Amino acid sequence: MKIFTSKQELSGYLDRLKQEGNKIGFVPTMGALHQGHLSLIEIARQHSDVVVCSIFVNPTQFNDPRDLERYPRPLDADTAKLEDAECDILFLPSTFEMYSQPEAWYINLGYIENILEGEFRPGHYQGVTQIVKKLFDVVKPDKAFFGQKDFQQVKVIGKLVEVFDLKVEIVMCPILREEDGLAMSSRNIHLSESERIESLALSKALLLTKENYQSKTLQELKNDAVNYLENSAGLKLEYFEISNSKTLLPAISKEEEGLVALVAARVGATRLIDNIIIK
Ligand code: AMP
Repeated sequence: MKIFTSKQELSGYLDRLKQEGNKIGFVPTMGALHQGHLSLIEIARQHSDVVVCSIFVNPTQFNDPRDLERYPRPLDADTAKLEDAECDILFLPSTFEMYSQPEAWYINLGYIENILEGEFRPGHYQGVTQIVKKLFDVVKPDKAFFGQKDFQQVKVIGKLVEVFDLKVEIVMCPILREEDGLAMSSRNIHLSESERIESLALSKALLLTKENYQSKTLQELKNDAVNYLENSAGLKLEYFEISNSKTLLPAISKEEEGLVALVAARVGATRLIDNIIIK
């Protein structure tokens, strides 16, 4: 695996590979890699000739400075995992490399940046689109792979691609879970033993919603999940919503084409999100 820290060197190297006809697949991450990330690398390998993974803990998408500070950064372990996963290129820029001068960033993402995650993390998706655009400009991938784990993020990236008319195909990859159902996340490392158990309420509420989908109304499904989550020990619910999977607006009817249930909650000091595609 080749490792680059310079934008210019990476883009020069990739330009040559592209001229030789290689298709580039890109997996942006913030590191602390787990099987979920590695599944994205695997899918990228199936769809591309050359796989580029980036690890960059992007400061502009953190609205809570403590969250940024305590974000795990196990770089040696990450590098070894990417080697094992046969990733071709790792891009590891410094903060200065990505943000060498202060810059204002605003793109009109529309309502999608203010609902669900956006309501609880103001500015988060401006930061996400800022860094993804910068990384896309360097890598210029044919395809970029994002996890369904961050369902709203995939929609937001879709909007970024639309606004700038970018020539990249966005591929959404399934959520990888621990055996007991907890969605894998770099933040799970912060959970104490008891919080780890309490955190199962998120995936359980989502599964119950999907299981009861045929027999209950949307309102009943939502009420049941909210009651369950609000009565779960150790958990502070931020939102639970059943949304139209295209618009992410709250679903009004079961007849809508695609439905997704999304949840966010705090377990102790750790904020977790999860979702399930209902239909
Ligand atoms: P992050 O490092 O958290 O920014 O995540 C990098 C990419 O990995 C994003 O596209 C995430 O959606 C994806 N990802 C995170 N957790 C999972 C998971 N459990 N299963 C699949 N993909 C994931």
